[in-house]
Amino acid sequence: MNVSVSAALSDRETTRPRTADDAAAARAGAFLTIDLAALRENYLALRSRLGGRACAAVVKADAYGLGAARIAPVFHEAGCRHFFVAHLDEGLALKQALPDDCAIMVLHGPMPGSEADCAHAGLVPVLNSMEQIEAWGGLARALGRRLPAFVQIDSGMSRMGLPEADITRIAATPDLLDGIIVEAVMSHLACADEPDHPANAEQLANFRRRKALLPDAPASFANSSGIFLGPDYQFDLARPGAALYGLNPQPHLPNPMKNVVRLMAKVVQTREIPAGAHVGYSWRFRADRPTRIATVSVGYADGWLRSLSGRGAVLVDGRAAPIAGRVSMDSITVDVTDLPPEAVKPGSLVELIGPDQTPDAVAALAGTIGYEVLTSLGNRYHRRYLNG
Ligand SMILES: *Cc1c(COP(=O)(O)O)cnc(C)c1O
Repeated sequence: MNVSVSAALSDRETTRPRTADDAAAARAGAFLTIDLAALRENYLALRSRLGGRACAAVVKADAYGLGAARIAPVFHEAGCRHFFVAHLDEGLALKQALPDDCAIMVLHGPMPGSEADCAHAGLVPVLNSMEQIEAWGGLARALGRRLPAFVQIDSGMSRMGLPEADITRIAATPDLLDGIIVEAVMSHLACADEPDHPANAEQLANFRRRKALLPDAPASFANSSGIFLGPDYQFDLARPGAALYGLNPQPHLPNPMKNVVRLMAKVVQTREIPAGAHVGYSWRFRADRPTRIATVSVGYADGWLRSLSGRGAVLVDGRAAPIAGRVSMDSITVDVTDLPPEAVKPGSLVELIGPDQTPDAVAALAGTIGYEVLTSLGNRYHRRYLNG
């Protein structure tokens, strides 16, 4: 069990004056603990693979659900000077949390009508389409100054970025970029977590060829997994997200990243039920022996996905207690028959995510990916940032 969390919970027994945080911890149903030192180590570990090339941090979706305002400054302190968010509003919020000596890129570019807000805030849009290029260039001409941007080209994912036809148009008519300082040309890999997938080499070749048609600028290509595809894929600026947050960039190999997140929830109550009794919605669990059930204060509204119904376990002092029946909105029920009764009482903590049950492992049980597990984590947790 996480000693600092359990220590905070037993403050009643100590003589230390009760703080507002103690009171909040006592009220909380569950704790989400985020290890800032592990985040820093992950950033430095990824950067060390880049042979001196720059390493950005992707902090979209509130740093994959973990809290961009607290986490981005940790990367900044570690030397990061390039940050990526998806939305303009995320960029505006992030700007408040970071010093001015770094660039914040907005992956979706400005939505129509928001270009002036983007420029005014000094955010750098990723321009994905001719429409975005025209709008950004138009604003630059109206303001009478050149405006910085990243230009994204599609290298084979067909999601965002200029298709080859538009790149050819720009090559023939470079004036289309008038007013725009192209700080970098970027693209995104679709299958980087599968090193043997032929898409990787194909996208790399497309990226090289299409980028060469545009004015010379630094290149950005690799996400977390892309970094592990080797130097050919790394270019001038890598853009890891997932691996910073401890997800495995090479799902087929042992995870080289440090686990960042711990999720602990409190037991609300326990009960003994006889063989034949049922538990939870739709009576999905039926006791086949006299059974002790603990109801735990975390549910799908907290991001403990409903697809985990009847799947996996929580850990009580390292021992597994299987999830019994459906995941409810605010609670789950776990079978603690095989655990000592004194280990599972109202207020006892059980571990749902941690080094022994990583977000990737939870995702595998839920039939999804660690990205979705992290970004689903809800807003009701008592959040703690360790080693700040
Ligand atoms: C989300 C995202 C990243 C980061 O990807 P990870 O797989 O989380 O490392 C990089 N680039 C773009 C364009 C993205 O959308």
